[in-house]
Amino acid sequence: MAILRTNGGIAFDQANNMVENAIGTISYPLGIATNFKINGKNYLIPMVTEEPSVIAAASKGAKIARKHGGFTMDSDESYSIGQIQVVDVDVESAISKVSRSTDEIITLANSKSKTLSKMGKGAKEVTCKEINSELGKMLVVEMLIDVGDAMGANVTNTMCEGVAPLIEKITGGKVILRILSNYSTKRLVRGKAIFDKHELGGEDLVDNIIWAYEFAANDPYRAVTHNKGVMNGIIAVANSTGQDTRAIEAAAHAFASRNGKYTSLTRWKKDENGNLLGEIEVPMSVGIVGGIINIHPMIKTCMKILGIKSARELACVIAAVGLAQNFSAIKALASEGIQKGHMRLHAKNIAISAGIPQDKMDFVISRMVQEGNVSVTRAKEILELP
Ligand code: NAD
Repeated sequence: MAILRTNGGIAFDQANNMVENAIGTISYPLGIATNFKINGKNYLIPMVTEEPSVIAAASKGAKIARKHGGFTMDSDESYSIGQIQVVDVDVESAISKVSRSTDEIITLANSKSKTLSKMGKGAKEVTCKEINSELGKMLVVEMLIDVGDAMGANVTNTMCEGVAPLIEKITGGKVILRILSNYSTKRLVRGKAIFDKHELGGEDLVDNIIWAYEFAANDPYRAVTHNKGVMNGIIAVANSTGQDTRAIEAAAHAFASRNGKYTSLTRWKKDENGNLLGEIEVPMSVGIVGGIINIHPMIKTCMKILGIKSARELACVIAAVGLAQNFSAIKALASEGIQKGHMRLHAKNIAISAGIPQDKMDFVISRMVQEGNVSVTRAKEILELP
């Protein structure tokens, strides 16, 4: 409670240690999504977002999902992929030389992390691929690394840089890049939930939601917005738990295009009882140690509220929130539209921007919503402010 009352910030000195040319810090709202039951466990889920309605929508989706047991989620082991680019090389013979030296490469990589080695984790596999480019062929050596409960970017990069001289020696080529791939396809999370047709308001609405999904599944213009809704949930939890949101976003959108056409990250259909069945599958490179997770007081507090025990559990929670969020968005879109629910919250932000005093806030908001005219100008006019 004491940390929550500090208003979320970190001291300037901490900010100054984190980034360059620091001049201050900025706060975002932190709220709690309620009603979530994931793999039989109840969660209160901290979400950091500037967008009104997101936390309410996630909580509402989770409440409806509870009737049929909540969210059933499953995540892969935490495998990251490191890439070592080799040029000026006879790719074919280099591939067979690398294959014969796999054990040596793995042993050298694992010597770079005592923590992972002690845990029986670390580099596990080495594979090769040939890439054609305008400059000619190149070899890319990929290392699969079990990074345990960290996002693992730094350990992956350290291992890639660590084995690069050995790979040059083995292949006779020249190594250029040695870096993690954020396309974390060996670190997927997937899951589902059933949303009761009666709680939804009938089978007609279930049908409309499935039509809405088919739109997203078959049109990239709709799919981007559909997935933006999924990311409203995912990124808000990633923010509250100190994750690398850019890595999550980049991987999610690449995954949404994995079959050559950008499509929905979720799937919606009817189950055998006519209820709505939602599914999600998305890469999720997250950690419960490392980065700012064990440093930032608010993030440590959010982790405590969540009660998460592993990176894989966190991945399940984040993806479940993405699915709940998507459910609420398409439910609203397929019925009354989102503006009705959104407008009051939007009007509140506008009233604050217009400098409306607290005791007149409700009056001004209601008038603007009723008139369907929500703007700073109108808010001021209602109170005859200058
Ligand atoms: P980190 O560098 O802080 O490393 C995690 C540490 O935790 C390691 O020292 C590890 O030994 C230790 N550890 C303790 N217990 C562990 C356990 N149970 N499992 C695993 N490790 C354990 O954190 P990180 O996850 O390597 O890096 C995350 C940060 O790196 C993020 O801030 C991200 O923005 C940044 N980053 C990202 C990229 C990228 O995505 N391309 C590149 C570079 C850096």
